[in-house]
Amino acid sequence: MERNGIRRERPSSGLRPPSPRTRGEGLQTSAVASPARRGMTLAAALLFTVSAHAQLGDLWNKHKDKITKGAKVAQSATRELTEAEEADIGRVVAARILQTYPLAKNDRLQQYVTLVGNTVAAYSARPTLEWHFAVLETDVVNAFSCPGGFIFITTGALEQIESEAELAGVLGHEIAHATQKHILKEVKRANTISAAQDLAATTASGSFLTDELGEKISNLAYEKLFTTGLSRRDEEEADRIGVELAAAAGYRAAEFVRFLGALEALEGEAQMRVLTATHPGAADRKKYVQPLIGDKSGEVLAERWSAWTQPASE
Ligand SMILES: [Zn+2]
Repeated sequence: MERNGIRRERPSSGLRPPSPRTRGEGLQTSAVASPARRGMTLAAALLFTVSAHAQLGDLWNKHKDKITKGAKVAQSATRELTEAEEADIGRVVAARILQTYPLAKNDRLQQYVTLVGNTVAAYSARPTLEWHFAVLETDVVNAFSCPGGFIFITTGALEQIESEAELAGVLGHEIAHATQKHILKEVKRANTISAAQDLAATTASGSFLTDELGEKISNLAYEKLFTTGLSRRDEEEADRIGVELAAAAGYRAAEFVRFLGALEALEGEAQMRVLTATHPGAADRKKYVQPLIGDKSGEVLAERWSAWTQPASE
C-alpha cells in the first residue's frame, strides 16, 4: 500500500533499542524495517559503511564513463532516467559536495546515520534504491540530497540534534527530495533551454563535451543546493513527506519540530548562512509542519542517540 510516497506497512515488532556498546551486535532485525534488510547485523552494516566510504571517496574518477553517459541522457531529457543513470548523476553531485566538505572520520557515526537512514528510506516510495548516507565534517548546519539516493548531513547539523527521532525527521526530508526527484527536475528544466544546441555540439565533438555536460549538471545541482535552493513548494513537500516517513518508521514525528526550533534559535549565525539561503525560514517551516503532526506517539530514542553519537566513557 502506498500513498503520497509513503509505504504504510509497519514492521510488526516495531523498533527495538539495540545495545550499541556491545561489539558484534547492533541494530538487528526488528530495528530495521524493510524485510529485505532484516538480519542486517552490525558487521554487515559496517561493511556497507566502508563500501559507501570507498564509493564516495573517488567517485568521479571511478565512474567517469557511466556518469557522462547519464549526464548526456539527462541533458537530452527525451525519456525518464533509469535508476542507474539517476545514480550516476547523483555521483557527480556527491563528488562535488565532497570537494567542499570532507567525510567525517568517525566510522561509528557514519554507521549510525546509515542505519537510521536506511530504516527511514525503507518506508519511502523507493525502498529498493541503493541509498547512501554519509556525515560531512563541518560546523556548517546543513544536509544535502543528491539524485539517486546519496544523502549527506553535516556534523554541524548533528550538533543541533538531540534524539534519533530528530535525525530520522531530518534524513526523511532529504530522502523525500530524492524520491520526488527535486534536483533532477531542476536539471531537466534548465537543460531544455540549451538542449538542441548541446546535443548538436556533443555529436560533433564526442566525449570531451559529454564530460562538460557532467560538469554542467553538477554545477547546476550545486548551485541549487548551496546558493539558490529549490522551490518553496519542493521544500514544503520534503518537510511533509519527511515527517510522514519518520512516523511510518516508528519515530515521534513531533521531534522534527524541536529540531526546527533549534534552527530558528541559530538563525543569523554564520554556520546557518547556506541553509537560510536555500530553505524557508525555520519559524515558517514550524508553522506548516506542526499541523501535519498528529499525536505524540512513536519512539524518541534520545538515549540511543547519545550512546551512538557521544564518545564512550570507558
Ligand atoms: Zn530541503
